[in-house]
This record gives sequence, structure tokens and C-alpha cells, in this order.
Amino acid sequence: MGDPSEEITARGEARGDGTRAVRAGLPEPAAYEPTLPGPVFAAHFHLPGDADPLGGPYTYGRDTNPTWTLLERALTELECPAEPGPAAPDSPPRPETVVFASGAAAMSAVLFSQLRQGDTGVLPSDGYHLLHALRDRLTGYGITVRTAPTGGDAQLPFLDGARLLWLETPSNPNLDVCDVRRLAAAAHEQGALVAVDNTLATPLGQRPLALGADFSLASGTKAVTGHGDLLLGYVTCRTPELAADVRAWRKSVGAVPGPMETWLAHRSLATLQLRVDRQAVTALALARLLLDRPDVTGVRHPGLPQDPAHEVAKRQMRHGRYGCVVSFVLPDRAHAQRFLGALRLVSDATSFGGVRSTAERRERWGGDDVPEGFIRFSVGVEDTADLLADVRQALDAAADGAAT
Ligand SMILES: *Cc1c(COP(=O)(O)O)cnc(C)c1O
Repeated sequence: MGDPSEEITARGEARGDGTRAVRAGLPEPAAYEPTLPGPVFAAHFHLPGDADPLGGPYTYGRDTNPTWTLLERALTELECPAEPGPAAPDSPPRPETVVFASGAAAMSAVLFSQLRQGDTGVLPSDGYHLLHALRDRLTGYGITVRTAPTGGDAQLPFLDGARLLWLETPSNPNLDVCDVRRLAAAAHEQGALVAVDNTLATPLGQRPLALGADFSLASGTKAVTGHGDLLLGYVTCRTPELAADVRAWRKSVGAVPGPMETWLAHRSLATLQLRVDRQAVTALALARLLLDRPDVTGVRHPGLPQDPAHEVAKRQMRHGRYGCVVSFVLPDRAHAQRFLGALRLVSDATSFGGVRSTAERRERWGGDDVPEGFIRFSVGVEDTADLLADVRQALDAAADGAAT
């Protein structure tokens, strides 16, 4: 096999990630039907006679929706492609994906469906800032929470007796990386389940289930859908049993995605490979530009060969897709504000992964342990040269402001 991004299909053909992304989750072609059926807007479905005790495929809109089903299949195909050829009779059951109204809903579904009073969870002490609030809530429910940083696999010594290990790699916003294979093996030895927040990498950049995780979850609000116009989350579960737990949680808290958002998300997957590849190339070029600037420190991007995260990232991430985020530090708050104000192609906005570049002074939220000049920069799909030129002129303008 020449290109390592190719998958061998049942018929022995090689298919790359771009091909898989445009076809993911599509139903079998049917005459006079659209390729991707439109959103199904339904609170309830015709249900004549007695209710099927097994729930029927589509009964009530909080339980299931045909538009969810197609997106869930698509995400499973991308997170965990099936082995080529017909499944062997003794092969393990296929993973299943459950979609949610947001990434936060997906996070909560894993944490609260798996951890009970008296259990212990091991969380990162860095990572997405909502984890702090979730930790407090878990503790309030009588769950013990241990935390350690993502970098250096520092969660490893805390697994004794744990029920769930939560990893976020690369972590947001500091871009540290941990070795999923190593941590998952150690957690399984302790009988713990492993969840990986795959938001930053996307399923084309990293496949947590193949690295040993039991759950791969993400905020679909970010790079997976990539247009900054919807909120969505999902959890891909290693077994149908784990998926049933997560689905039951979705039903009871009602954190369900709207059919329109779900359909838009599916439509956006077609360009996932184009977007993440362009973003990865530009992000690395931006990180290199920043390294050469005397006014910039603390440049982090897992694709930089000199980055502390690079060795592990190179082993477990796919095809140089190290993500769209570059983080770095400007001398102080005023300098960082001048930089953000001078950018013309980049909005001062939170979130990341969109087709339009954004950047923000992350300390403004107060939730992350970062210096006040810390910038989280999310690279869009603009032409690389245009974006680099804009950053260069904004850095110059911000430095001139310091001199005057
Ligand atoms: C944004 C984000 C979330 C939460 O997702 P929402 O869609 O905003 O609810 C979870 N994890 C990571 C790493 C994120 O960046």
C-alpha cells in the first residue's frame, strides 16, 4: 500500500480519508432520492397499535431520529473504520456513536453514565475548562476525582482502583499530548474504562478506539463540522453495551441535537479532510513563523519537531494532522490586545476549528492557567500566505505600539 492514508475496502480497493469522508454514513443509493436525505423534523412518528417493547426504530424525537442515525453511522465509520471484508462470525460487535446537542452534553453523558457514588475518576488537571466545573459536580455526587496534567503521562500513577480515566489529547488550550496506548493499557489493567476527548485532533487526525480507548468523544462544534455555525457533540463507544448506557443518559437528560444541526454536521463532514489538511499545513507554517519572532515566547504546536509533545503526537496522530490550533505568548495583556486588534483576516473570538481563522487572549475567561498574553490561535482555511502575512503585520503593529 503506497499512501498510508488508504484503507483497503471489502473489494480490495484502496480508499483514502477524503473518499471515506465524502461517503461516510450515506444510505444505499435509491432511485429519485437525494444522496444525503434532508433533515427529518419530527417530534413523534406514526406508531399504530401497541408500542413495541423494543422501542421500534423511530417512535419519539427524544429517543431517536433518522437524521441522527445517518450522522452516527458516519462518525462511527470515521472514528473506527470496519475491518475490510465480511465480518468474521466471532468478531467483536461494532462500535456505535451517540450524537448530542453539544460537546459538553457528550462529556457529561460519559462521566455521569459511567461514574457512580463511591467510584473514582482520573481527570486531567489541564484540558477543556469545563472539566473544572464537572469535577466539582462529580465530587458533590460522592465520586472521588483525582487530577494530574496531560503532559508526560502524569495521570499514570493515579489509576489505582479507578473506574474511569479521562484523557484529552492534544489538550486545549496548552496543546500537551499524552500516550493514549500506554495510559489505556495501564487503566485496563486496573479495570478502568478510558475516555478520550478527541475534539482537537478530529477522527481523521487520531483514532482513540484503535489506541485502546473505550470512548472517543468530541465537540462537533469545532473542527469536525468546522463552520462555526452550530453546536454538536458525539461519543463513539467501543461496544453496543457502553453505547446503550450513554444513549439512556441522553434520553433521560434530553440533551438531544436538533435535526437541522445534525444534518448540517453531516453535510460538513464531506469537506473534513480538505479542511483539516489545509489547517494542519498552515498551523505548522504559523508556528514556524512565530518561533522566529523575538516578541513571541512559548510557541506550542504538536507538529513542530522541537515541541515537547511531538514525539508522542507523531506516533499516535495520523498523516501529519496535528490540528488547527497554535498557542503562544505575547509580552503582556496590552501587547496581546494590540495584536488581536491589528489582525484583518482573523476575528477575536473563542472556539476553534472553523474555516475562518480566530484568535483570542485566553486568560480573559479566567478558567485556564495561562499567562495574560497567552494567545490561542485557530487557523482557518484561508490561503496560507495571506494568513501568515496578516499575522506578521499584526505582530509588527503590536510591537510598534509598545515602542511608542
Ligand atoms: C469546546 C470543547 C468542548 C465542549 O464542546 P461544546 O460543543 O462547546 O459544548 C469539549 N472539549 C473540548 C476539548 C473542547 O474544545
